[in-house]
Amino acid sequence: MSPDFDVFVIGGGPAGLATAIAAAQRGLHVAVADAWGPGIDKACGEGLMPDSVEALSALGVTLPKEAGHPFPGIRFLGCGVSVDAHFPSGSGLGVRRTVLHDLLSVEAGRRGIELLWKTRVTGLRAGMVECEGRSFRSRWIVGADGGQSAVRRWAGLDACRRDERRYGFRRHYRIEPWSEFMELYWGDGDPHEACQIYVTPVGPQEVCVAVLSRNPQLRLDQALPWFPQLALRLSGAAATSQERGGITASRQLRRVATERIALVGDASGSVDAITGEGLCLTFHQANALARCLEAGEAQGGLSRYEEQHRRLRRRPAFMADLMLLMGRRDWLRRRTLSVLSTQRNVFPAMLAMHVGGLPPVSFAANFLALGWGLLTQA
Ligand SMILES: Cc1cc2nc3c(=O)[nH]c(=O)nc-3n(C[C@H](O)[C@H](O)[C@H](O)COP(=O)(O)OP(=O)(O)OC[C@H]3O[C@@H](n4cnc5c(N)ncnc54)[C@H](O)[C@@H]3O)c2cc1C
Repeated sequence: MSPDFDVFVIGGGPAGLATAIAAAQRGLHVAVADAWGPGIDKACGEGLMPDSVEALSALGVTLPKEAGHPFPGIRFLGCGVSVDAHFPSGSGLGVRRTVLHDLLSVEAGRRGIELLWKTRVTGLRAGMVECEGRSFRSRWIVGADGGQSAVRRWAGLDACRRDERRYGFRRHYRIEPWSEFMELYWGDGDPHEACQIYVTPVGPQEVCVAVLSRNPQLRLDQALPWFPQLALRLSGAAATSQERGGITASRQLRRVATERIALVGDASGSVDAITGEGLCLTFHQANALARCLEAGEAQGGLSRYEEQHRRLRRRPAFMADLMLLMGRRDWLRRRTLSVLSTQRNVFPAMLAMHVGGLPPVSFAANFLALGWGLLTQA
């Protein structure tokens, strides 16, 4: 029997829609099923780094400026220090999740992708995708069903090299962004509760505030008193959304594909949200996967995707580990922030490496300066 589709994508979040768009761009006949409808919301810091914006435009998706709020760089605040750096090129964009999802859904529709909204996939059977009461035959199946992926389980791809979880809660506030930067506040808080809060401008009168910690019970209202400067700024601002929470995982799977099934986005593993690189990684994976699907078995099929997926993860995973270490160790955070504020070329270089604008080898001299500073700063 001939298949109904070349590619059936399970999960229509950013990863699923980006993969579908990239595959349709290459002439494949694609369907996407999601249990929800367009405009899907999710706990997210909502900051797209310049490399995320670039990765989206490689998919042919241009974000209009008015879709969000641009930011030229990142500011770290903590231990009495405030230090910022501009991106080496381009700017980031703070975008409400619902807006990003709407834009991707419209683009997918425009490309002739079959969009099966409000359709939960319930299982896979002999190359068929089973939805509530319907089944579809597809040449390739893509699991883009998020961090708690069922496709991952059905395909036997659950084995992990690493799986560490933290928890994030975010809320929006109606207030004019007080800084042009996306801000990351490093908390000392209660010694048992090292946490970070980041603030992303998402509109001329709105910011998104997200707290990240290892404590699933820690809500924004409990964490804010540990960040008095930020609490004061937000004190008169009305909340414009309900608090929404989610798991952020440092997860690396042993394998992300079988012969016919591939995982993408958070279903395929993830880096901690502290990097703000989750969506960028997802869009790069989508492009890489679509290239491999187009090339098909003759060019190594999904085993090539497996290699590319590993390579794409390296840089954001390295940066996430550095930042998590800084979050965990009091002395390291104190010294790092102090070095970044005194050696003014180190933070811009670090940020450039973070967003893929500087190869790690070119960062070496700054890394030495940072290391020396850490050893010698009192
Ligand atoms: C607190 C927090 C803050 C973050 N901040 C940032 C940030 O600032 N910048 C950044 O780039 N990244 C950030 N991230 C990471 C980013 O949100 C994720 O990497 C991104 O959402 C991954 O998208 P996805 O499509 O893989 O998964 P999801 O967005 O989870 O989408 C999965 C989709 O699959 C659907 N689905 C699941 N099961 C089924 C089924 N059986 N049948 C049909 N549909 C199904 C769901 O309905 C959902 O729509 C953050 C994450 C967290 C938790």
